[in-house]
Amino acid sequence: MTTTTASEIHSDLQAFLRKSPHKLLIGGQWLPAASGKTFEAYDPATGEAIARVAEAAAEDVDRAVKAARAALDGPWAKMSPAERERVLHRAADLIEKHAEELAQLESLNNGKTIREAKSGDLPLSVALFRYYGGWPTKIHGETVPVSVPYYPGAKFLHYTVREPVGVVGAIIPWNFPLLMAVERLAPALACGNAVVLKPAEQTPLSALRLGELLLEAGLPEGVVNVVPGFGETAGAALAAHPDVDKITFTGSTEVGRKIIQASAGNIKKVSLELGGKSPNIVFADADLEAAAKGMFMGIFYNQGQTCSAGSRVFVERSKFEELVHALAERAKTVRQGPGLDPRTQMGPLVSEEQKRRVLGYIEAGKKEGAKLLAGGESGAGKGYFVKPTVFSEVKDGMKIAQEEIFGPVVSVMPFDSVDEVVSRANGTPYGLVAGLWTKDIKKAHQLSQRIKAGVVWINCYQFVDAAAPWGGYKQSGYGREKGQYAVDLYTQLKSVWVDLN
Ligand code: NAP
Ligand code: MG
Repeated sequence: MTTTTASEIHSDLQAFLRKSPHKLLIGGQWLPAASGKTFEAYDPATGEAIARVAEAAAEDVDRAVKAARAALDGPWAKMSPAERERVLHRAADLIEKHAEELAQLESLNNGKTIREAKSGDLPLSVALFRYYGGWPTKIHGETVPVSVPYYPGAKFLHYTVREPVGVVGAIIPWNFPLLMAVERLAPALACGNAVVLKPAEQTPLSALRLGELLLEAGLPEGVVNVVPGFGETAGAALAAHPDVDKITFTGSTEVGRKIIQASAGNIKKVSLELGGKSPNIVFADADLEAAAKGMFMGIFYNQGQTCSAGSRVFVERSKFEELVHALAERAKTVRQGPGLDPRTQMGPLVSEEQKRRVLGYIEAGKKEGAKLLAGGESGAGKGYFVKPTVFSEVKDGMKIAQEEIFGPVVSVMPFDSVDEVVSRANGTPYGLVAGLWTKDIKKAHQLSQRIKAGVVWINCYQFVDAAAPWGGYKQSGYGREKGQYAVDLYTQLKSVWVDLN
């Protein structure tokens, strides 16, 4: 195995990597793809292959869906809610026990820093299984006091039951590979569904390791199936499969549209977490030190590869020069390197393709007349590094101010009034998150109501929790994941009438 880092690779991770070529998880069995094909997983810090993975296509997806359906109709349905809770809690414990190994695997395959993997991805994954581990015994229906106007005096018992949606297809991106998988699996399993998970082609490894841990946790065969492969083949087959009841998708708005189209065949339920071009708004009366940190973290966390990236920073004019230069200076000091090196502050982007896409946006920004204050080019070495990049003199209509870049590139713009900044903040097709920085409590709450975004952070940024709903307005998607809201997404309500007359 190849690594460019000084840090020790965990022995369990070494053992896992030796299993290459990795197989698909279908019906509790590890199987090669029907075609026999495999593809390579890379270390984005070096561009070198670290493993081969079986490449699922339509036939494998079909086998996985059948396995999920069989599990749903079999042992999984017979498990009591309390037993389901125990499985989910054991999954949390196992992820916690293997946190070091899993954090290294995330860093190795995605490029993210080991520090972020350990402080963010892993504890959140554990917390999600713990949080949803508490739900199975608490998902219940209600009795409803019905009146029937065309049958005066009639008596009925009416109650509701929450049932699983059925077979859930989960299609996830590469930016938080393990966390995205867990964010779908934990609520889906808590609600009694069976899942076919298609990880992103760039980052299939941690989903496969998670599959092993879930079997170890006692999840019955076929309840979770993992089918790495490409979007156009495996992903599309899952999205269109006639026996999949629901798709949960996270990724680009462009593919989100295809998921909606593919869902039409059997009227699948769909929830979508798509892109963002989120505003991070700093008023002159804010705690400027905190705001400066929030601007930095907001855009550069995970190399800027977050759907919630604060990629449009609006600063009230009187503080604009001060804050934009502070951000640019800080960006210039960021230490880039392999994510596994504990000294690294920013890792590589996930892939060559992503690096090319991000550099293309930087070129577009320069061409359209934005002023480059920091970065603007590849970082050193063979890996997919792009330097943290700060633009000023950006116009709202420019490509870099309208489109999701999904990399470490921020546009910083001055503003003069509340009305102006609200209209500019809302001036993209997206509406995922927004940040507001001010000490004026009234202004903060007034503004939070006027911003069209699914999440608003006041004097903070990039905070998430298993209990707090997450999802977008406008073209950032629909449906709310996490918290009790995901229980709505992963169950369907049955209305039962009993004649008492
Ligand atoms: P993407 O194409 O939307 O990928 C997301 C997931 O969808 C992956 O598992 C992908 O598989 C799958 N997929 C692709 N085409 C599909 C299809 N026709 N049917 C079903 N599934 C399909 O995202 P990307 O190409 O990795 O990145 C492109 C851009 O999307 C990024 O630059 C960024 O702007 C945005 N993005 C947003 C988020 C977010 O969290 N909101 C996350 C990732 C990317 P493959 O990996 O095999 O293609
Ligand atoms: Mg793709």
